[in-house]
Amino acid sequence: MAELQNLTLEPDEDYRIIIADDHQMFRDGLKNMIHSKSKMNVVAEASDGKELLSILEKINCDIILLDLSMPNLNGIEALEIIKNKYPKIKILILTMYHENTYFKHAIEKGADGFMLKTEMFTSLISAIRQITSGDIYFKNLTDKKEIPPVLQEKLKPLKIEIENEIEEAISNNEFIIFYQPVFSMNDGKISSLEALVRWQKPNGEILSPDYFLAAAEKSGQIRKIGKFVLINAVKQLKQWRDIGYTNISVSVNFSAIQFECGQIIDDVKEVLEESGIPPDKLRVEVTESLAMKDVALAKNIFLKLRDLGVTILMDDFGIGHSSLKYIQEFPVHGLKIDKSFIDSIENNNVNKLLTQSIITMAKHLKLKTVVEGVENQKQLETLRELNCEEVQGFYFSKPLTDKETIIRLAEE
Ligand code: C2E
Ligand code: MG
Ligand code: MG
Repeated sequence: MAELQNLTLEPDEDYRIIIADDHQMFRDGLKNMIHSKSKMNVVAEASDGKELLSILEKINCDIILLDLSMPNLNGIEALEIIKNKYPKIKILILTMYHENTYFKHAIEKGADGFMLKTEMFTSLISAIRQITSGDIYFKNLTDKKEIPPVLQEKLKPLKIEIENEIEEAISNNEFIIFYQPVFSMNDGKISSLEALVRWQKPNGEILSPDYFLAAAEKSGQIRKIGKFVLINAVKQLKQWRDIGYTNISVSVNFSAIQFECGQIIDDVKEVLEESGIPPDKLRVEVTESLAMKDVALAKNIFLKLRDLGVTILMDDFGIGHSSLKYIQEFPVHGLKIDKSFIDSIENNNVNKLLTQSIITMAKHLKLKTVVEGVENQKQLETLRELNCEEVQGFYFSKPLTDKETIIRLAEE
């Protein structure tokens, strides 16, 4: 699976595009963006699946930007028909829903790419270039929104399949952990290593959480996976400490599903006691949107974790619809500002102002600020200007295996 790359402008990219989406404002926005940022041409627009099919009878195109939820014929249904009839047309699915089973379903039906509408305005053109060059595109899909019931029915058989596979993977020890460094802006050194789970298939293929996390959360299997990550990440930190790296911490992502039975607190207590690491060197990351699903429960668990001395960060902050006011009510130590704010920070003043106000507010509330997804020097410079405390992203390092992590630490 190809990562999105910084593809350079192709001279011959005068692709013909059809936009199918039921919101006219949305179609207008897309069209303006495509025409202002590329040589590609929007040749037609459709407001539902049926209209799209009748347009295709008359007009040729190279690419369809296809909304998943449309009246008459939805995106998945239209996709199947179009791919059978016009196999050469590339199809990029656009959706509001963070749901990986959709992605799998859409790809199985022949889609070439799958993109969240929230990311479109920063990544659409590169995604089109990527799919026209024969790769498939998907990015940053995690389960952050509920799936509409109509599609849930359709996806059922698929989910059961994934759940069975996950169960087997758990018993075969196929889950492994990568570590992505987080750097302090003060001295440029690694302050923490974030544990990111991967599924290594017996054939060596490594799957990112995008493939299995949503299914594992729905089935509850995330509890087992989460416990595995917690135990092993803390063990790993202990080993790093034993060879002299005593200033770094390890960050572990918790799913709110793990909060539902109080077990998580006992698990954390146990790993802290067994490893003897200072509790504040364990950072727990919980996404804002998951915390917001059950605010009372999240607050309760955060309080207990805080009593144990653990450091708590609100992950993917800024996209979970909590008002800033809420944050002071959550007993957290810091905010990890979502990548979507950073993506276009160099040339988008609104995003820059938003990031600035989050950082200012966080400082006022004595919260640590971490920015994730930093991909270039300009973004870094802007973040330095905004006095952000810690940064993480491909610009500094991709997630590393345990062996690569040791090498990276030794290089400091
Ligand atoms: P996250 O915690 O927000 O982690 C950051 C994700 O962004 C990681 O993806 C990381 O590889 C990716 N990333 C980091 N820097 C950059 C960058 O500069 N550019 C881009 N495009 N991406 C960057 P990954 O490893 O695929 O993880 C996705 C999500 O899955 C994580 O988002 C986290 O919410 C979840 N996750 C990962 N491991 C676990 C786990 O053990 N338990 C739970 N509950 N969730 C996990
Ligand atoms: Mg995280
Ligand atoms: Mg995040």
